Amino acid sequence: MMRPWQARISRLLGATVLAWRRRFFLPALRPAKENVGRMQFLLDLRRHGIMDAAVLRAMEEVPREKFVMADHVRSAYADQALPILCGQTISQPYVVAYMTEQLALSPDHHVLEIGTGSGYQAAILSRLAAKVTSIERYRTLAESALARLAALGYDNVEVIAGDGMAGAPDRAPFDRIIVTAAADEIPSALVDQLVVGGIMILPLGPRRGDQVLVRLTRTETGVERDELIGVRFVPLVPGQAREL
Ligand code: SAH
Repeated sequence: MMRPWQARISRLLGATVLAWRRRFFLPALRPAKENVGRMQFLLDLRRHGIMDAAVLRAMEEVPREKFVMADHVRSAYADQALPILCGQTISQPYVVAYMTEQLALSPDHHVLEIGTGSGYQAAILSRLAAKVTSIERYRTLAESALARLAALGYDNVEVIAGDGMAGAPDRAPFDRIIVTAAADEIPSALVDQLVVGGIMILPLGPRRGDQVLVRLTRTETGVERDELIGVRFVPLVPGQAREL
């Protein structure tokens, strides 16, 4: 049993610790600090060569902290890939911005994304195009990404659980296609679903080795291919996941 004087001391100590915690810890959790992180985030994107004002605006507008796991909220604006459910990753912000810029989007475009993951890239695309169709092989990821996008009011994104390697022939053709997982070869079904003059951006290369980001432009007679930058993506795996 605590005597009254003991209880009083313990209350006083409690108040001191609380005041001390407030002084030294709580300010770091306030949104103002996070905004500094966000400002730096945009400056870094510019410094690394992202020039397109509309892309920068989309990167500024979409709250990346809503797309990462609770443990990683503090790193949401660091330029790094982070783990998400099902052993997958949300891409590094610079790569998201770079791929988006390379897509040269117009507000009337219908975009197909392969590899919804967290839904972050789809959210960025949704700010710059008329409609986004995104395919994810893990149902868990597809459902949580859709819920997240809906909660943020990004209602021009459709998420499909399925095999992205087959594309979405019933919604084709697409003005732009972006693949956010690396394949060894160009999935030919996707090229067939691109309009003439359309652009597809995808990483090509082995599972853990050097991968390169490739831009394909569909022409009347075939495709033109440009190699862009070196990247590191999780692999594009055929078929819808049977579990998760
Ligand atoms: N664009 C995502 C990052 C995705 S990581 C984001 O912004 O968060 C790559 C994703 O591609 C993973 O979620 C993986 O499950 C998915 N994926 C891999 N192969 C696939 C396939 N054949 N069809 C659809 N999704 C696939």
